[in-house]
Amino acid sequence: SVTVRLSGRTRVITVSNQKGGVGKTTTTVNIAAALASVGARVLVIDLDPQGNASTALGVPHTADIPSIYDVLIDDFPIADIVQTSPESTNLLCAPSTIHLAGAEIELVSQVAREHRLRTALDEYLANLDERLDFVLIDCPPSLGLLTINAFAAADELLIPIQCEYYALEGLSQLLGTVRMIQKHLNPRLRLSTIVLTMYDGRTRLAQQVAEEVRSHFPQEVLGTVIPRSVRVSEAPSFGQTVIAYDGASAGAVAYREAAVEIIRRDTTDGRAVDGANEET
Ligand code: ADP
Ligand code: MG
Repeated sequence: SVTVRLSGRTRVITVSNQKGGVGKTTTTVNIAAALASVGARVLVIDLDPQGNASTALGVPHTADIPSIYDVLIDDFPIADIVQTSPESTNLLCAPSTIHLAGAEIELVSQVAREHRLRTALDEYLANLDERLDFVLIDCPPSLGLLTINAFAAADELLIPIQCEYYALEGLSQLLGTVRMIQKHLNPRLRLSTIVLTMYDGRTRLAQQVAEEVRSHFPQEVLGTVIPRSVRVSEAPSFGQTVIAYDGASAGAVAYREAAVEIIRRDTTDGRAVDGANEET
């Protein structure tokens, strides 16, 4: 076990990639659970109408439950919708419900439509009794107003990239959107982290994709790659992250290592926590 330090401020990280099925939600909930397992206090904001992050965190999100929709459209405080995951008292979730499917359109006519999440999150973070170490925002697979709200609210962008054909396709459009956001909405936003997901080291293709992504983004790509693993894909059907579902599995080990890397990349003199085991 290693000791890692948490910085003294809340890092707000948006997990985005307008492609579907690349591992955004899986990466969000498992990094969040891994961070919580080493003592970090973490909030996951589920910004995808499908609500897969809420499901994986074991948090109810039927249509009658107050959700991030009410925050964005009806000015609910985030404090009124946050639930604690049964997995850990350190792991919070602002759930999504099916109502969020309409929010993309309803937001168009709202005042300060790009800043709704940012405003709500700033107010929430400023009034907490116990500071959060991380906020992770799980985005839908589009570059619409929900994702723009996430970009406007975040300091960091984490992009999961699936190690397969066309991995880099769409990335220039994503980075173009980020530059537009930096210029007009949120100069603090920076691409901090790229996570290679669903890696199958037996295939030459996966190795080639990983090499190519690393050559383009040598600073951003985490050393840890997330292997393709059945345990990772099974966990959500039990309403769990892989960290809780099978903590010794290769996927859980990789996500814990990725979480430790993310903490370390920001290390300043903060609070020491107990890190995950690091195998080499
Ligand atoms: P996104 O949120 O980008 O749409 P998901 O996180 O939902 O992507 O992942 C897409 C699918 O791939 C899901 O069925 C998920 O269970 C599966 N998956 C994600 N990561 C892994 C992995 N490391 N190993 C096996 N299956 C994975
Ligand atoms: Mg998703």
